[in-house]
Amino acid sequence: MIAAPSVEGVLRLLREEGSRAYFGEAVTITEHQLQAARQAEIEGAAAALIVAALLHDIGWVLQASSPESATGPHEQLGAEWLSSFLPPAVTEPVRLHVVAKRYLCATRPGYDARLSDASRRTLVDQGGPLEGEAVRDFEANAYASDAVRLRLWDDLAKVPGAWTRDLDQYAPLLRALAAN
Ligand code: FE
Repeated sequence: MIAAPSVEGVLRLLREEGSRAYFGEAVTITEHQLQAARQAEIEGAAAALIVAALLHDIGWVLQASSPESATGPHEQLGAEWLSSFLPPAVTEPVRLHVVAKRYLCATRPGYDARLSDASRRTLVDQGGPLEGEAVRDFEANAYASDAVRLRLWDDLAKVPGAWTRDLDQYAPLLRALAAN
């Protein structure tokens, strides 16, 4: 597993590993995350949620860079790895962005039809739409609404060639959150 993260370490990983790795979409993981962060900015999200959007799939990047040691669901892996230097307002929406997809599939008519093919395929492995008690458990989580917002940006962030900021422009935001 890659050493404990720092702001510079995360940026380097996204620049090097994340700009090569694809996950069944037409954009690289780093492009995808930059597009998600851009959506968060457009909607006026708080700094922590913008950074959560920027890093929500870091677990995939970790798995791409060290497949033998970085195992388990990518959202858990990413949230755990980030939690050594970023606050819960960043890591919890990251951790919940997959269950938020399952929640939206269960509760929002027509949502699943908007998912990309890759996202619809992984839904099966992720457990399918939430049911019964699990819907209420998710809604009771303090970060549920942030996770739902992040998920909706995630779904929009798969457009080849879409304009985004440069990764380095997020460095000050990351440093400010890491310092707290
Ligand atoms: Fe994503």
